[in-house]
Amino acid sequence: MRPPVLFPLFAPVTALPGVGPRLGKLVERAAGPRVVDLLWHLPSGLIDRRYAPKVRDAKEGLVATLTVWVDAHQPPRNPRLPYRVRCRDETGFLFLVFFHARPEYLEKALPVGEQRVVSGRLERFRDELQITHPDHIGTLAELERLRGVEPVYPLTAGLTLKVQGKAVRAALQRAPELPEWIDPAHLKRQGWPSWREALLAAHAPESEAALAATTPARARLAYDELLANQLAIALVRQHQRRQAGRRVESDGRLRQKAIAALPFRLTGSQEQAVKEILTDMAGEARMLRLLQGDVGSGKTVVAFLAMLNAVEAGGQAALMAPTEILARQHFATIAPLADAAGVRAVLLTGRDKSRARDVSLADLRRGAIDVAIGTHALFQEEVAFKDLVLAVVDEQHRFGVHQRLLLAAKGGAIDMLVMTATPIPRTLLLAAYGDMDVSRLTEKPAGRRPVDTRTLPVERMDEVISAVRRAVAKGTRIYWVCPLVEESEAVDLAAATERHAQLAALFPGRVGLVHGRLKSAEKDAAMAGFASGKLAILVATTVIEVGVDVPEATVMVVEHAERFGLAQLHQLRGRVGRSEKPSACLLIYAPPLSVAAKARLAILRETDDGFRIAEEDFRLRGPGELLGTRQSGLPEFRLADLAVHEDLLAAARDDARLVLQRDPDLKGARGEALKSLLYVFERDVAVRYLRSG
Ligand code: ADP
Ligand code: MG
Repeated sequence: MRPPVLFPLFAPVTALPGVGPRLGKLVERAAGPRVVDLLWHLPSGLIDRRYAPKVRDAKEGLVATLTVWVDAHQPPRNPRLPYRVRCRDETGFLFLVFFHARPEYLEKALPVGEQRVVSGRLERFRDELQITHPDHIGTLAELERLRGVEPVYPLTAGLTLKVQGKAVRAALQRAPELPEWIDPAHLKRQGWPSWREALLAAHAPESEAALAATTPARARLAYDELLANQLAIALVRQHQRRQAGRRVESDGRLRQKAIAALPFRLTGSQEQAVKEILTDMAGEARMLRLLQGDVGSGKTVVAFLAMLNAVEAGGQAALMAPTEILARQHFATIAPLADAAGVRAVLLTGRDKSRARDVSLADLRRGAIDVAIGTHALFQEEVAFKDLVLAVVDEQHRFGVHQRLLLAAKGGAIDMLVMTATPIPRTLLLAAYGDMDVSRLTEKPAGRRPVDTRTLPVERMDEVISAVRRAVAKGTRIYWVCPLVEESEAVDLAAATERHAQLAALFPGRVGLVHGRLKSAEKDAAMAGFASGKLAILVATTVIEVGVDVPEATVMVVEHAERFGLAQLHQLRGRVGRSEKPSACLLIYAPPLSVAAKARLAILRETDDGFRIAEEDFRLRGPGELLGTRQSGLPEFRLADLAVHEDLLAAARDDARLVLQRDPDLKGARGEALKSLLYVFERDVAVRYLRSG
């Protein structure tokens, strides 16, 4: 349970004075729904109000804070004209100008004959010095505060800086002193303030320099967030280790049979990956390994050899893919190898509701089936294994952590192999999984050829169509990927349907269409038609088709390539270049290109090294966008910026590891402090992994 001292931080923002339901909605949109979100909502700029001239010396265009006497109110004769208040000091007049004014308010705020401090941007209008809608009006007593530097926050439409600033100040007041959770020596070495001081300092920048991510205050807060992240991961890992894993070993009898049946030789990196996986499985601890490799690098075979190891040791294995097409493709790769090894494999997808499925389920339950391949249908309740030993999850980032856990729960202390074609940069991996073991398939299987990659503006679509016409005449098979429109399947669909109709008119009977809304049977038919060569062109929305394998396809056309992320484009391109024939990738874009889009396309022309592309992508776009979607399953940080705080992440990992070595259940004084850190950053789940009592 969250400790009571933190309750005020997790109250809704409307609990703050001056934030009612209406403003609450706006504050929520800008910063987040709870008080703690305001603490993390750091200033993006500042307004310096320290310039405090006399009226005579005041320079227009600057923000200034002036002390003046209120001289006279001048309500407008015509309601469309502004309400003016004349003020003065001993050197001249200053006019305060208000449109759509409420006179009662102004009379109260600016009583004639009294002294007031006003702050805002100075303007000159017909020789008169004026401030339109001053940012602040206050009494002399308030002078001190007004003369300072005011933080500027990211806002949302309808929300003023004044309201936002006030809400943040109120939130800061609720931030309690908390026991120090950072190692004292580390804290001293870094010269960091305490948590609360860091918050106050980060929200009170004195200069532009104080807005940098590397200031002690901001660095400390970033470290806190990263430490919470790494500690939470380490706790989960510790918990997994405590559940006895099991040693899964075999003499490789089945594996040998499958390898003998392969129509090719394993690459060196495939062999290496298999070796690493087998070593993990033979170990006491539960395996959590990531198998990274470009599309077409041959992950499925590696996974299947690991699965055979589980089967040979007397257990079962499951492979979960994010889409039905992918599940089918894995099954197609695996089925002949399974036959060769004398292992029973089954495909389980959401759609078959037949008797055959019931039989499969029963067989799985009693252990008559060794290997199950499927979509998320695999972790439905009705699916039970006799003895699941290994779970392989493909295209990891499409599944939430929750789904992964559900699959893990189907077995006792199962080993987990995660496969991804998105080469995740090292930093991001660390943030997402801590020290996850990684095997990388860096070699391309023999026979892969570099893809001739070209970019061209959409104005040259006619040329593309003529080229496609020539290619189709020669028997070429072509993928045609339609624009990705932000998160909107409906719009994606319209674009794809339109393009399909156009191409189908040009090449009657030779153009197929696949997208997420199609019935599975229709999708299969289109895919099969393309695989067999009956269809020459396959128009697709991207969402679904990661990883399809039609070696005969040699041309990839991507429309609106500028809307895709680097990693996505790289994956799409990986669909071709899988045969002896030369392949091409045409990236069609709509000018003008943004600087970032230009850079992305240039990198693609330059290299086909997936790992390099991933690192560049990370640099260009930042972690949040890396996978092109917010639901990537990778962590998002509010205070840490992985591009800047990479070294802090590594330090946090080391720290978390060390802490748990010394105090595995966080019972010491620092341990207790670290628990509140976990609560502050809402890693409550991790706290549950601590052994109590
Ligand atoms: P990935 O899942 O990494 O995208 P796959 O495992 O689907 O790649 O493999 C893509 C294709 O390459 C498959 O047709 C597979 O049979 C083939 N393949 C795998 N390993 C090799 C290899 N060592 N040599 C030649 N072809 C291979
Ligand atoms: Mg694959």
